[in-house]
Amino acid sequence: MRIILLGPPGAGKGTQAKFINEKKNLAHISTGEMLRQAVAEGSEIGNQVKGVMESGQLVPDELIVRLISERTKKPDCKAGYILDGFPRTVKQAEALEKMLLASKQKIDVVLSFELSEEELIKRLSYRRGAEQRADDNIEVQKERLRVYQQQTAPLIDYYRQKKQLKSVDANGSIEEIADRVFAVLS
Ligand code: AMP
Repeated sequence: MRIILLGPPGAGKGTQAKFINEKKNLAHISTGEMLRQAVAEGSEIGNQVKGVMESGQLVPDELIVRLISERTKKPDCKAGYILDGFPRTVKQAEALEKMLLASKQKIDVVLSFELSEEELIKRLSYRRGAEQRADDNIEVQKERLRVYQQQTAPLIDYYRQKKQLKSVDANGSIEEIADRVFAVLS
């Protein structure tokens, strides 16, 4: 099973991806985590993307598509995977589709995490205190939301048209959201 988690920063994609990973034994692929790790290691890619990430912008499509293409070939992806934070642009979605088609695979479902602006602001302000992320100060969070609206939100229609989209109410507690996620997946 191949799943895409779609939603704004702070929607709870990472948390729910961990639950799905534990229950369904699908690889959890977080492009944000992969990039943060590259930055922490000081690798060539890390040095290349550090500034872009800290500004709240997206790293180039080609780079991220290459990362995903390599990552999904690893043995732990054989039974399927959860994409958390990818695709983030229509270009990335198209590249993913091409990549899957070439190996006669497909995405089974796209979970669209939907939550009120009020709840989103609450989550992001909590995260500023709880996680030590360089891109979680208030100005960069605002920029990340703006980038989401402009570049990533169009994917909701993109996948709706392909009839792959399932909405998940992402308001409420972690447990409530998990129940809704598993109800959709079962
Ligand atoms: P995330 O942890 O998913 O919020 O990602 C943190 C940052 O990594 C983003 O703000 C982007 O700068 C970068 N990033 C993660 N995934 C992608 C992607 N699919 N395309 C472009 N940039 C990404």
